[in-house]
Formats: sequence, C-alpha cells, structure tokens
Amino acid sequence: MSTPSILISGASIAGPAAASWLAAAGWDVTVVERFDHLRDEGQNVDIRGIGREVIRRMGLEDAVRAHHTRETGQAFVDEDGRAYASFPAGTDDTDSSPTAELEILRGQLARLLYDHSANSAEYLFGDQIVDLHDDGQGVDVRFAHGPGRRFDAVVIAEGTRSRTRDLVFPDARVDELGLLAAYFTIPRTAADDRQWRIFFGGRGRLVHLRPDNVGTTRAMLSMYTDARGLDRLDRDGIVTVLRATYGDLGWETPRILAALDDAPLYVDQIAQVRLPTWHRGRVAVLGDAAWCAGPFGTGTTSALAGAYVLAGELGATPDDVPAAFARYESILRPQTDRALDFVPRNGHPRVEWHRRLLRAGLRVAAGPIGGALARIGVFDPSLPVDTVELPRYPMPAPVAV
Ligand SMILES: Cc1cc2nc3c(=O)[nH]c(=O)nc-3n(C[C@H](O)[C@H](O)[C@H](O)COP(=O)(O)OP(=O)(O)OC[C@H]3O[C@@H](n4cnc5c(N)ncnc54)[C@H](O)[C@@H]3O)c2cc1C
Repeated sequence: MSTPSILISGASIAGPAAASWLAAAGWDVTVVERFDHLRDEGQNVDIRGIGREVIRRMGLEDAVRAHHTRETGQAFVDEDGRAYASFPAGTDDTDSSPTAELEILRGQLARLLYDHSANSAEYLFGDQIVDLHDDGQGVDVRFAHGPGRRFDAVVIAEGTRSRTRDLVFPDARVDELGLLAAYFTIPRTAADDRQWRIFFGGRGRLVHLRPDNVGTTRAMLSMYTDARGLDRLDRDGIVTVLRATYGDLGWETPRILAALDDAPLYVDQIAQVRLPTWHRGRVAVLGDAAWCAGPFGTGTTSALAGAYVLAGELGATPDDVPAAFARYESILRPQTDRALDFVPRNGHPRVEWHRRLLRAGLRVAAGPIGGALARIGVFDPSLPVDTVELPRYPMPAPVAV
C-alpha cells in the first residue's frame, strides 16, 4: 500500500497533536487552518490524567512544565478583595482541583504542538474546506483558495462551531449553555498575586483574574445570560456590552474595564456538542468539534487523548479507515459522555439568595469540614478525565525534526 494521506482541519490543540502522532504512524499529513496564523489567544488550560500521559509519550512534558503559568490555586474574594474560600492547586496527574498541577496558556500549548509537528506535516494557513465528497475509496476535498485534493481520510478538529462538520454531520447538536466568556490580557499590578481570584458580582456575573507566565494578568468576565449572538458582535460592540453589564461592580472590575480598550480579546458563547456518531465513512470529528463539554477543565485533556487514540487506531489499520474510526469512538465515548454530563450549572448565581448560598457552601468546602468529607470520599468533585485507559500502540513516539 502507498503512504496513506490524511487531511486535518483545525490547528489548535487536537489538530497539531493528531498531526504529530499520525506522521509518526507513517501517514502523509496535511493540516488546514482557517486563520492565516497560529492563534495565540486564550487563557490557562489544564492538562490532566490521560492528556498528561499523551504529552509525556510525545516527550513534551518538560517543555509544557517550563511554560507553567505558576498559578498556585483558586481564591473566592469579596468586594474588598478579601478571600473567603481558597483551594490549592492540584498535586498530581489526576487531582481534580480547579487549578491543575499542569496549567499552561492555550496559545503556548498550541505553539508547542505546532512546532513539534511542523516539519513532519504540511500546514496550510488561511484556507478552509468548502466541500468534500467521500466515494468510499477516498475523499475529494475542495478548498476556498487552494487547489482541490484527494485524501484517504479527513479529520475535522475545528472546535465547537465547526462549519465543515455541518457538511458531514448535519445531525450534530450544539446546545447553548447560556454562558458568555470574554477573555483578555491586562497589565499586571503589584497587587496581583499568583492565585486565580474569582468575584461573584451577582445577577449572573463573575469576574476572574489569573496570573500568567509572561508578566501580564489574564482577566475573564463570564456571565449567565439569555441573550444569544453576543459572540458575533464586533470588538466595539462587545466592549460596549461588557462595560454596560459590569459597570456597577466593585473589586478590581473598574481596572479591568478600563484596560479593555487595548486588551487582546477573545469571546466565547459557551456550548456543548453532541453527535450520534463521530465518523461517517472516511471522515471523523475530533476534540471540541466532536464532544465539547464546556470550559470545565476536560477539553484540552480529551483533545490530546483523542488525537493519540485516533492516530493509534489509524496506524493499526491504515487500509480500513472506517474500522479504525469506529474503534476510536468506542474507546473514547465513555469518557466524553461522562464529561458532557458533568456540567456545573449553578456557578453563576443570578439572585441574591443563591449568591449567599454559594458563598457559604464554598466557605464550608474550603474549611476543615469540606476537607474531611473529601478525604472520606463523600465530597468528590472528580473531573471525568480518567474513565478510560489509554491504549499502548506500536507506533514510534513522534519527534520534532
Ligand atoms: C483562540 C482560542 C482561545 C481559547 N481559549 C480558551 C481558554 O481560555 N480556556 C479554555 O478552557 N479553552 C479555550 N479554548 C478552547 C480550547 O482550546 C479547547 O477546548 C480544547 O483545547 C480542544 O481544542 P480543539 O483543538 O478541539 O478546538 P479549538 O481549540 O476550538 O480549535 C479549533 C481550531 O480550528 C480552527 N477552525 C475553525 N473553523 C475552521 C475551519 N472551517 N477550517 C479550518 N480551521 C478551522 C480554529 O481557528 C482553531 O484554530 C480556546 C480555543 C481557541 C481557538
């Protein structure tokens, strides 16, 4: 058999990770990214359990650790900045603390994964799939700009709002969670410590400040809202909405809003993705495009695990792509289904009694009673990242060349 070829659409986390492993498994890999550059927006992402094992098998653990954000834990603060409940960072692979032991800025992880695969895969930036046709023997792909090409398989790793997915999986469900998150970078001040600080502003609004490893501070304004389409506003529009929505809040909010004019900004209307199947013929979905559960600490880990399993299964039967895709899905479904059900729905209190209740509950959870309950397993907020065992495949570890 000649060298099998694969097209991966999306160059964030899942796409470049899959590109590395597939090239190591002997595939001819092309990655197409809609943007004309590698995107560096976003904040801290967690790498836990099996995701960390994939990074380890790629030989990237030290590099990821060198980019650690050095966040020491999470603290809930009141209007005056006083912490009333604090949770330290995790201490090992599987710890389910809100701050993982291995935390890295999303853009820096994307860069590491891209660098690792850039010489073994072909990257096409500034282009996208406009049509594809699977005739059972291969997939003919038309691009918006480049010439059409034929591949043995296509993987869609375009994130939650994937457009190519609609061509093959029109039955995909994107469930809006009613949460809007605006992520941006602001100047660091001497008062910024190394904790992820969270302030409940009431009426569904949260204000977050997190340290990074490049001398700035990451701010996030997240809100529970019935409004839809806010993520499609232009920059001025979204800044106006944020200022009008958060203008009455205390703590560090005035400083954060003042910095908005110059801040790199990324806005996400949070949704979950559910598909009845992750593969049709020679086309499969991967990462958030397939199973996004929301920003609750599992997305990056499962994207890394998915990339590895997908490549391992394709490496095992390159001449039977549909069978490899079916095995990939059967291995990972249990974990992603559990993650989809693990949605903390009550984190953005809209009414005052709820805000008070949540604050009281956090005080208890952070205190000696919460610690004791956690030790005997009564209070177990474990994140569903280790419900599957990562297989071992005979493919060589990918090396950056
Ligand atoms: C810019 C950005 C910032 C983020 N910030 C955070 C954050 O702060 N916190 C957090 O928890 N998660 C964040 N995420 C999501 C996080 O990266 C994912 O949940 C997780 O890592 C799984 O990644 P993924 O590769 O499956 O999807 P994504 O990270 O969503 O990446 C999808 C990629 O596909 C590209 N793409 C989309 N459509 C097309 C198309 N039609 N053709 C070609 N390419 C396409 C996108 O530009 C992107 O590069 C962010 C994602 C992005 C893209």
